[in-house]
Amino acid sequence: MESVIVHDKEFVKFIDAQKIDATVTTLAERINKDMKGKNPLFLVVLNGAFIFAADLFKKLTIPCEISFVKLSSYIGTQSNHVVRELIGLDEMVTYRTVVILEDIIDTGLTMGVTTEKLRKLEAKEVKIATLLFKPDAFQMSYEIDYVGMTIPNDFIIGYGLDYNRHGRNLPHIYKISE
Ligand code: 5GP
Repeated sequence: MESVIVHDKEFVKFIDAQKIDATVTTLAERINKDMKGKNPLFLVVLNGAFIFAADLFKKLTIPCEISFVKLSSYIGTQSNHVVRELIGLDEMVTYRTVVILEDIIDTGLTMGVTTEKLRKLEAKEVKIATLLFKPDAFQMSYEIDYVGMTIPNDFIIGYGLDYNRHGRNLPHIYKISE
């Protein structure tokens, strides 16, 4: 499908499933190399990252663990800049290498707060892996360790990302049509 309608908006195909898969493979290869011997804990930020995390996790060949947390700063198509609490962090992160898996980093506020909380819990090292990054929207100064693709500052859906709860099941990534 070259375009889809979700609720009241039209979205056009932007990144196809094959390109996404190749990007996830490249990220996994880098992580396999860097995280060897560290027994990292992958922390998945729900809901959006669930498909990315599942695909990436299958491509990891090192001993590792996975856990899930929830937070969200998005309502509709505009970031409201309210970063909510981190829910569900029941794994011991103290003295662990933690790799946060995020679907997309936009302003970067959510990830900034998340990494801060993990540091307070005395994680040994905290790495960030995101499938997508919007450099034009980014307002923070921290380094993002693993970036799959940089994209323009457009609202996107598909591959786990939603528009008001719909569109997560689309295998390709779509961007909002102007
Ligand atoms: P940030 O705190 O970096 O501004 O926002 C991060 C969160 O906002 C992401 O985890 C994601 O849930 C949401 N988000 C940012 N950009 C988009 C987008 O283009 N589409 C969708 N569906 N969600 C987005």
